[in-house]
Amino acid sequence: MSRVWNFSAGPAVLPEEVLRQAADEMLDWHGSGMSVMEMSHRGKEFISIIEEAEADLRELLAIPSGYRVLFMQGGAIAENAIIPMNLLGTRRAADYVVTGSWSAKSEKEARKYGEVNIAASSQAGGCTTVPAMAGWKLSPDPAYVFTCTNETIGGVEYPFEPDLAQIGRGDVPVVADMSSNILSRVIDVSRYGLIFGGAQKNIGPAGVTLVVVRDDLIGHAMPHCPTAFDFRIVADNHSMYNTPPTYAIYVAGLVFRWLKRQGGVAAIEARNVAKAKLLYDFLDGSGFYENRVDPACRSRMNVPFFLGDEALNDTFLAEAKAAGLLQLKGHKSVGGMRASIYNAMPIEGVQALVDFLRDFAARKG
Ligand code: PMP
Repeated sequence: MSRVWNFSAGPAVLPEEVLRQAADEMLDWHGSGMSVMEMSHRGKEFISIIEEAEADLRELLAIPSGYRVLFMQGGAIAENAIIPMNLLGTRRAADYVVTGSWSAKSEKEARKYGEVNIAASSQAGGCTTVPAMAGWKLSPDPAYVFTCTNETIGGVEYPFEPDLAQIGRGDVPVVADMSSNILSRVIDVSRYGLIFGGAQKNIGPAGVTLVVVRDDLIGHAMPHCPTAFDFRIVADNHSMYNTPPTYAIYVAGLVFRWLKRQGGVAAIEARNVAKAKLLYDFLDGSGFYENRVDPACRSRMNVPFFLGDEALNDTFLAEAKAAGLLQLKGHKSVGGMRASIYNAMPIEGVQALVDFLRDFAARKG
């Protein structure tokens, strides 16, 4: 068996330890005589799996007691509709901060359900930065302010946690799409009304969507909101109104335990800082590769870069693949290359990438 260095933006690399444990437990989970995939979601075995996953997540993110953890389906893209359907309540409008493709997609979807005000946007400059909060223009009475704390495609990450109290609007809940940076850095959950993310980057397999929502934002769904997507129904049924994605939740739980063994989120954040520094420092000093994101807002998770000679892109990808470095092609909307270096990518993988980049530039640059 040989595993490659996988720089996919998602679904993405998972910790090898987790995959091995899932393999070991595949046919017979803890003496139950069956795979987690084959268990009733209402049986005591699976209930213990989902409860432990939630407890571990609460510990890792230090989630305060006034928040519910929901395991939903539909991915982050479905949340773009589910959130306005649940949060707009009696308000007419919601405010969006646009910093890249994902937040742009979110605000477009929200327009189906209410008025959308763009509180701030970096689109004019090509979404290479995060607008400073002092310049955010909130509407008079928004239901929430939507942010995407890490733009997976553009490689732009918030260098600050949105704190609307700083602009005198501490009463407005902040919603954050953390699909691609959740659990990669320490956050203060109490600053947010709702945090959500698809699982397939830092959490586990695709298929489960994590929602952490403050109690007071539950119970305001629009009448036409599908029952399975009404936060009140999902919360009251402990994420089991419909059959949850049991296997994905089980693997997410294994990832949470792995994270705890790594020393928790602060410890993994320190490693992520070191990994990102290794790669960005090399790119900046190479004289051949270029990252075009505002240095203050460069993502620690997704690192887009361009070759000095774009005609070499195909050769680069072919040689990288031959060297065991996969999924480096940039998103088609951006071009160039992108290395995603989530929690499960060890620093050895980033070092292997840097070594390859150096060698390639020396030969072709
Ligand atoms: N938001 C962000 C920040 C993402 O990175 C992604 C997936 N790459 C999505 C939303 C959409 O997620 P999904 O495809 O799981 O719905």
